[in-house]
This record gives sequence, C-alpha cells and structure tokens, in this order.
Amino acid sequence: MAGLAPNARSRRIEESATLAITAKAAAMKQRGADVVSLGAGEPDFPTPPPIARAGVRAIEQGRTRYTAAPGVPELRAAGADWLRATFGLDHGKDEVMVCAGAKAALHMALDAVVEPGDRVLILAPYWVSYPALVTMADGEPVIVPPVPERGFVHDAAAVRDAARRHGARGLILNYPNNPSGAVPERHELQAIVDVARDLDLWLLSDEIYGTLLYDGATHVSPAVLPGGRERTMVVSGFTKSHTMTGWRTSFLAAPRAVIDACCRIQSQVLGNPCTISQEAMLEACRTPLPEDQATRMRAFGERRRFLCDALAGIRGLSLRPPRGAFYALVDARELCAARGIDDVQVAEQLLERHQLAVVPGSAFAIPGFVRLSYAASMDDLRKAVDRLRAFAEAR
Ligand code: PMP
Ligand code: GLU
Repeated sequence: MAGLAPNARSRRIEESATLAITAKAAAMKQRGADVVSLGAGEPDFPTPPPIARAGVRAIEQGRTRYTAAPGVPELRAAGADWLRATFGLDHGKDEVMVCAGAKAALHMALDAVVEPGDRVLILAPYWVSYPALVTMADGEPVIVPPVPERGFVHDAAAVRDAARRHGARGLILNYPNNPSGAVPERHELQAIVDVARDLDLWLLSDEIYGTLLYDGATHVSPAVLPGGRERTMVVSGFTKSHTMTGWRTSFLAAPRAVIDACCRIQSQVLGNPCTISQEAMLEACRTPLPEDQATRMRAFGERRRFLCDALAGIRGLSLRPPRGAFYALVDARELCAARGIDDVQVAEQLLERHQLAVVPGSAFAIPGFVRLSYAASMDDLRKAVDRLRAFAEAR
C-alpha cells in the first residue's frame, strides 16, 4: 500500500541494539537454551521495598489519576533537593521536571533545543540511543571517534576541533559512561565545558549512572562547573541505582526556558509520567537507603573485580577497570585480528556457540570491543568467564 508507509526519518531509526540482543537471548532461553545474558544493563536486585510499597500505596489510596504534565509539584521540589544534595546542582523546582525514564528525558531535551539540521557531537563510545534520538529531533549526529588510549576520556582539543570542523551546536556527554565506565577528572570535564562556552554549544549531560562509582572516582556534573549551568541539560534519576527500570521515571534539570519548552512538549506527547511511579520516585528522593545502596555497590564492586581479574588471564582479551556504571568494555581487538573476525561476529559466535549474550562494540561505535554488563549474579558471571575462556581457547 503506497498511502501508508513509514517515513524516511523513521526508516533511519534502528532498533536499540542492547534491547535487540536481550530479546534474542530471552527467546533462546525460552526455547530451553542455557543462555547467560550480559546484554542489557539492568540490575538483578529488586526495586527497594520501601520504594515499591510507595507505589502500591498510591494504587490502594486511589492516587491513580492524571497529574500535572511535568510531574507533581512535591516531586519536582524533592527532585531539586535531591539533585542539590547528591550532586551539588543548583536548580529550583521550576527547573526540574519529571520524565518517563532517562530515554524520555533525553528525547524531550533534544526535541526542545535542536533546530533542523543542527549537528550534535556524540563522543564514542556512546550509549546506543543517542544518534537515533538526535535524528528523531531532526538533528544530525556527528560521532567523535573513541580514545581507548586515554581511558575513553576525550581531550578537549579534539572536541573543539570536531565542533569547529562540523559547525556543531550541541554536545552529548555521558559520565559515568555506558559502555566504557569512564569518569573524567574535574579538570578534564572543565576543559570540555570551556570549549562549549567558547563555541557556544549546549550540553546534554546524561548522568543516569552518577552514583555508581568505584576506586574513589567522583562524579561531577558539567552544570556545577563554571560556565556549565546556563548551557547544560542534566538527565538523572534512580533507574540504575535503585532498579527503577520498569517504573519509567527520571529527572530533567535545565534553565527555566528549556524546562518550560520540555513541559509543553511532554504535555502534548505524554500527558504526565505515570502517577504511581511518581509516588515511588518521591519516596526514593525523600528516603535515602544507605544500607541498600552499600549492599549494591559492594556487589557491583566484587563483580567488577572478579571480571577484571578473570579477563587478565584470557588470551586475546583485555579490560581497563571501569570507574563507574556496571559495564565491562572488553578489548577484543587482538582476538579479532588473530581470527580474522570482527566484534559483531565475536558476539554472534559467543551467543550461538557458547550461549553467552554480549553487545558488540560496533553498536557503541567502538569496533573490536564487546560490552558485558556486570549487573548480573556472580553465578552468571562465573559461567560467562568460563564461556569466554572456552571461546578464546577454541581453535
Ligand atoms: N542513558 C544511559 C546511558 C543508559 O544506559 C540508559 C539505559 N537504560 C538510559 C539512558 C535509559 O534509561 P531509562 O531506562 O531511565 O530510560
Ligand atoms: N541502558 C541499558 C543498556 O545499555 C538498557 C537497554 C536500553 O535501554 O537500551 O543496556
């Protein structure tokens, strides 16, 4: 039928690679295969019970109706307080809105600021959805190549050069980074903010892993650095730290004019984020759960250490210890070269021959690498390492 057809823009949008691999692994599992899935990054812990109970209470007490489009005022205020207390951000309640997950917050932000044809810099390796989100906002993604030799933190001079060469209008930052786990030092981030200030770029800072840090790393938001606040849109929330993956909640913090524009967009495309989830998020803001968080970080730390040690003993693979988030970006370039295959084939062979699901680095614009999520049980990680070793040693 000629009349009804996906348009050119939607045809350019690929399915999220992380979700596609996870779906494939789940289908294999359902058919009875003993698949270990280190594909999508989703913690294996439950949503903390006090937070889940707040959602149940909302249902039981009938708080199940529409709310204001940018979220209930108490939650916007609690979000501003939480962002201040946790990251030192200085946004008032009218500069914070509630969105339906970090993905939706990124989407609202890009929709609000990108003009048709604007070039937007994305630093590789990048989380899979950024180029598609820029394209959907009618912008043009420009990928800045990865710098594994610098621990995946770009030199500000390279960012300046790329921005000038492409006439970029904005830059997406994601620290702690998915997939590399990179966390820049304050001065490295300041140098990038200085470039943004000099070239008048806006910054979209995805800080969804902002509390998941190792080895004494500290998370700094570009919005707290000199020259940062007025040009930065911050995406944050509890998706990863509190396993609120299915609740679909997040915060977007930015100067008032941009937040107002995002609220107008959200009022048209979504209405409000789920009312029940907002109650749960309010509980997450108001009730810190230090023991729960310490338990999680201990577990992630142990798994991270296990993977780093185990991978050091597998020929052809290497891993630089990630400083944040819960992904291991494994360098498989040596193995690829020795076998004459690429990272996509590595991931395919791991899944088909060894029942191990990982994401090929090409999905994040870092070919030759594969990403493992260690938001998985130690049992699964042990099996995964055995399978990786069997793969690496197979002739
Ligand atoms: N940003 C990054 C860097 C992510 O890894 C993810 C993964 N879910 C998201 C955003 C989306 O998070 P949410 O589930 O809150 O939409
Ligand atoms: N963000 C997670 C990941 O990178 C979940 C999957 C997704 O939302 O794309 O694996």
